[in-house]
Amino acid sequence: MSIQVTRPSMANMDEYMEEVKDLWVTSWLTNMGYKHEALEAGLSKYLNVPNITLFTNGHLALESIIAVLGLKGEVITTPFTFASTTHAIVRNGLEPVFCDINPLDYTMDVDKVEGLITEKTSAIIPVHVYGHVCHVDKLDQIAKKYNLKIIYDAAHAFGVTVNGQGIGSFGDASMFSFHATKVFNTIEGGGVTYLDPLIKKKLDVMKNFGITGPESVEFVGGNGKMNEFQAAMGICNLRHIDGEIGKRKRVVERYYSNLKDIEGIRLSGEQEGVTKNYGYMPVVFEGYKKSRDEVFEALKVQNIFARKYFYPLTSSFDCYRDKYNVEDTPIAVNISKSVMTLPLYADLALDDVDRICDIIKK
Ligand SMILES: *Cc1c(COP(=O)(O)O)cnc(C)c1O
Repeated sequence: MSIQVTRPSMANMDEYMEEVKDLWVTSWLTNMGYKHEALEAGLSKYLNVPNITLFTNGHLALESIIAVLGLKGEVITTPFTFASTTHAIVRNGLEPVFCDINPLDYTMDVDKVEGLITEKTSAIIPVHVYGHVCHVDKLDQIAKKYNLKIIYDAAHAFGVTVNGQGIGSFGDASMFSFHATKVFNTIEGGGVTYLDPLIKKKLDVMKNFGITGPESVEFVGGNGKMNEFQAAMGICNLRHIDGEIGKRKRVVERYYSNLKDIEGIRLSGEQEGVTKNYGYMPVVFEGYKKSRDEVFEALKVQNIFARKYFYPLTSSFDCYRDKYNVEDTPIAVNISKSVMTLPLYADLALDDVDRICDIIKK
């Protein structure tokens, strides 16, 4: 049997059927229905944030908050991320300016941000990659000093807290993804969290074509609404989220006990005051007897599918050919060539973890 890098967590079928039953009575399938409203309330509580707006996926959530905050010109961001982060900037007609990452937690290197700021810079979009938290205090200082907005891509950081504070309460806004492969899913789905309650109305309008009244359309919005079947999946999954994260923790701890203290294999360290959601199991091969690509292939022939996540860097995608210089971010280049995320999901058997580790060690 093959082992994929991830497998969605799903509430059991009867529970989901029970949850969606009344949709056949109300026929209210989308456009901010009861389940949508209930999930917003539940997530705002779970994530410990005052405001959240749901979307049909995380990418549209990010595109929409960029539009709502009215960013202009250049946006400082990281190339060590999923396509979505960079595309959301470019699709808003903005210019991404790539900042290197730090070699310890792979988040934006905050010491290199100020050197990239020009009179055209309007914002910083960092990523809490693998659930590792960016250096939020330093970024906050920089943003205040230069009057920039910060939008965090928190797609990997569902439920993470920093000294008890919800990860979604930093910066001007944070984007979460509830895609099937994430720690918490609504099949496809996403949301934006923010402190300023005035953003709520704008996001709600932006995700519904910019419509502000029966005869008025004041903005060029898109369609980003989360439907009731997605919201119902979210309501069910949210009931079990702590258990699922607990199961992931077991898997990750097993990986650590197998792979720690091996020369040339680097595992992520702890961050002080930061809780984990065990969303990813990144391993960096640095001076190991085999290269990342050789280990990747050795797993593949055994039907075990790890992922070169993130390789390539977004700044070297075909669609951005000749636009950016990857040599501007040498650490990101290095990490992307040597990192791999290992299979991780709530129900991954510990025996399988041992087997994966044995292949890596051999
Ligand atoms: C998953 C992901 C997204 C996009 O979210 P979708 O819900 O799939 O649209 C954006 N950024 C990062 C870092 C992600 O991992």
